[in-house]
Amino acid sequence: MNQLLKTCRRLANSGIILDRYGNNFRLRTPFSSEKLLLPFRRTLASVESSTNVSNIQPGPCLLFSEDENMLRDTVRKFSQSSIAPKVREMDEKGETDKEVISQLFSNGLMGLEVPVEYGGSGLTFTQACIVIEEIARVDPAVAVLVDVHNTVVNTAVRKWARPEQKKKWLTALATDTVGSFCLSEASSGSDAFALKTRAVDKGDHFVINGGKLWISNAMEAGLFIVFANVNPEKGHKGITAFVLDSKNPGLSIAKKEDKLGIRASSTCELVFQDAKVSKEDVLGEIGNGYKIAIESLNEGRIGIGAQMIGLAQGAMDIIFPYLHERKQFGSRIGDFQGVQFQYAQARVELEAARALVYNAARMNDAGISIRKEAAFAKYYSAQVAERIASKCIDLAGGMGFVKEFGLEKYYRDVKIGHIYEGTDNIQLQTIAKEMQRESGFDKK
Ligand SMILES: Cc1cc2nc3c(=O)[nH]c(=O)nc-3n(C[C@H](O)[C@H](O)[C@H](O)COP(=O)(O)OP(=O)(O)OC[C@H]3O[C@@H](n4cnc5c(N)ncnc54)[C@H](O)[C@@H]3O)c2cc1C
Repeated sequence: MNQLLKTCRRLANSGIILDRYGNNFRLRTPFSSEKLLLPFRRTLASVESSTNVSNIQPGPCLLFSEDENMLRDTVRKFSQSSIAPKVREMDEKGETDKEVISQLFSNGLMGLEVPVEYGGSGLTFTQACIVIEEIARVDPAVAVLVDVHNTVVNTAVRKWARPEQKKKWLTALATDTVGSFCLSEASSGSDAFALKTRAVDKGDHFVINGGKLWISNAMEAGLFIVFANVNPEKGHKGITAFVLDSKNPGLSIAKKEDKLGIRASSTCELVFQDAKVSKEDVLGEIGNGYKIAIESLNEGRIGIGAQMIGLAQGAMDIIFPYLHERKQFGSRIGDFQGVQFQYAQARVELEAARALVYNAARMNDAGISIRKEAAFAKYYSAQVAERIASKCIDLAGGMGFVKEFGLEKYYRDVKIGHIYEGTDNIQLQTIAKEMQRESGFDKK
């Protein structure tokens, strides 16, 4: 084995990389910028065999494999070269640059966990979180586009679509079509399953009427997963998921929101007026929509945790060098003990949040229920990221307050982490319910 590792290192130094897959090794050349994720791609069979608890070796959740570290470096370089130069302009315009979206697709970043068979990158969920964290480090707004598309929309289709639907939708979502997840409505946010949008069965098709609020990616999306109730008497058990094409004449964007943060990510109000949807376009079973929403959002919450730790790291990346350049009282401000205690405290909290995110991600990859862990990850990462984004501004003094320095955007972008995919209170409610269930106190 030592000999093999030595060979690995020698080949890596010579520009050729030897990957380990279980007990097999594979030679590959370094990745090209066009096919960013090609070296990390796995087939459907290898994805399925790895999502088995018996294959998992317990270990530190923040100990990343060679592949995971290489993926992180690759996405970091991509984010710095392709996204960073456009961050300020996208924030000011309130839109994601089309070229950035096209590069996300061409580099496999929009089909992260989609199996290679459907044109995706076949990554693990943990690897998807690494990608989201690294993009958020540069721009949390682009990260949420990538996150919602991958961890929520693609996940729902990957898990619930029939094979012929996967061929049609997953292939599109992995290669050129942005997705939106449409659950929230004007009167149903935290109480999402009180939704009022209705789908009426007309024999060979359904007709949807109603509206949705706060829909991310709506301006860019070609596919919309829409939750509507086909049988209101059954309450949440009537909720069904439909996949609508953006060209559906019954679907329109009523308003694009003007927001505090993540401004480049579109957030829109949608209206459905007699939107005709074929029965072929029902995702999963009729009445199973609430289950699809809950399960997709559990993974989505870990993705938001990854966005939040990436954001906090991005703010730290700016402040730390500054603290060692700026001098006051004849000394670098980073050498004052009062300042050291503050950045050390931030680092501890960031590591704790990162551990919660990757623990939840690795549990998800192992096929273990992550309901509570997803809530831990999202809740705590949002808290920590807000404290760090704010602290970094304090530590930069006046420079922290100006746009040019870059910190104020993280401070604006961070607030959404407490709101979408379940507010802080909703995460705490989930954790409390799980605690009661685990100890048997759920039975009154
Ligand atoms: C930028 C942005 C993007 C979004 N993207 C999407 C998207 O792509 N798809 C989608 O479907 N939705 C999306 N949302 C909607 C988001 O998920 C909701 O805003 C969120 O779930 C909160 O719902 P609400 O805004 O109606 O707040 P409300 O539910 O009205 O909550 C208001 C306050 O009451 C508290 N509260 C509510 N109920 C309870 C309770 N039982 N116990 C304690 N406190 C409670 C909340 O914690 C919150 O503090 C997005 C929202 C925003 C702002």
